[in-house]
Amino acid sequence: MTTEETLKLFERYVIPNYTRYPIVVVRGEGSAVWDANGKRYIDLFPGWGVNGIGHCHPRVVAAIREQAGKLLHVANNFYMEPQGRLAQLVAESSFGGKCFFCNSGAEANEGAIKLARIHTDPARYKVITAYNSFHGRTLTTVAATAQAKYHRGFHPLPPGFVYVPFNDVDVVAKVCDDETCAVLVEPIQGEGGVNVPDDDYLPRLRELCDERGVLLILDEVQTGCGRTGKWFGYQHWGVTPDIMTMAKALGGGLAIGGFEAKSDIAASLVPGTHASTFGGNPIACAGGIAAFEAIAEEGLLENAQRVERQIKDRMTALSTEVDFIREVRGKGCMIGVELSRPGTPIVEECIRQGLLVNCTHETVLRMLPSMAATEAEVAEGLDILEQALRTC
Ligand code: PMP
Repeated sequence: MTTEETLKLFERYVIPNYTRYPIVVVRGEGSAVWDANGKRYIDLFPGWGVNGIGHCHPRVVAAIREQAGKLLHVANNFYMEPQGRLAQLVAESSFGGKCFFCNSGAEANEGAIKLARIHTDPARYKVITAYNSFHGRTLTTVAATAQAKYHRGFHPLPPGFVYVPFNDVDVVAKVCDDETCAVLVEPIQGEGGVNVPDDDYLPRLRELCDERGVLLILDEVQTGCGRTGKWFGYQHWGVTPDIMTMAKALGGGLAIGGFEAKSDIAASLVPGTHASTFGGNPIACAGGIAAFEAIAEEGLLENAQRVERQIKDRMTALSTEVDFIREVRGKGCMIGVELSRPGTPIVEECIRQGLLVNCTHETVLRMLPSMAATEAEVAEGLDILEQALRTC
């Protein structure tokens, strides 16, 4: 099909809830994608962070091919090896808890909130979340997401969410009361502008949660699974969450989400309390296992740290010449370049020149490159970005 034919299909049959670029992506490999006209793009924002180890990583493709020939799906009232193996890999690279799998980040957070409520005293139902957060688009997770723009038109929202500024533990201490069951934050805010907290934020939040007997839930949907150069974002700050949610890069490109909880907390989700028909299916888990193995065996955490240095060095150097670059921040393969003007025209120019990047929070150019990106691929992308920043 031509680009025009596919666009026409969408115009007639697909609900227009996304702003889409008029590009039909037909193939991806590593840090590159090709459109229906054969144009190649360097992808420094692969799949909103889903393609954490790049497009069609050979290990992921081989694993899902093999799994597809054996078993695609089986209901969760049976056991299946891939689900158990993926849970083991998550637990062994984090805090040794137990996992539940679903299909997206929103569902992961929804389930984590349910677990926090069912695990604690019935009088405790409130969850404290941060401004500029993003936790998903289900009614409960938009309620958890503090910004009014995500709420408009959807009231009444599920009650029980209390919003505080990010990176401020004193306010959490003030609003945390006898009805609070959990604090839910991202270790580094993603959609909110790649906001890295002060080094004492998560440790002090952990302390406060312990003092008050509330659970610390970390939303690692964007920061997790190697993205920041550690297996999980919280590991930069030496704290341990009670519950951690995941999705995006978890399946190496396949649709899977989940959460891990400390074993005593996990025990509260007894049969009948929570479930997902597709959650933890063998094919998505096979992709996830392959992704975890690739990250471990191919040194991709170290590579993510190298990519961080490469992007930060280049952008920081450029900021001395391009005066509207205000700050370069982030960790590993999660980098934001804050501008003092809207980022959309720059993103559009990059796309014209063959580079995919994102703009979030209006002024923050965001890159979530593949953890497997080579120096040459990143340099190719940065050449285009630099040119766009110099000329737009
Ligand atoms: N939490 C965070 C931190 C996210 O970045 C996102 C997606 N951008 C979500 C939750 C929601 O994930 P999903 O779109 O898979 O429901």
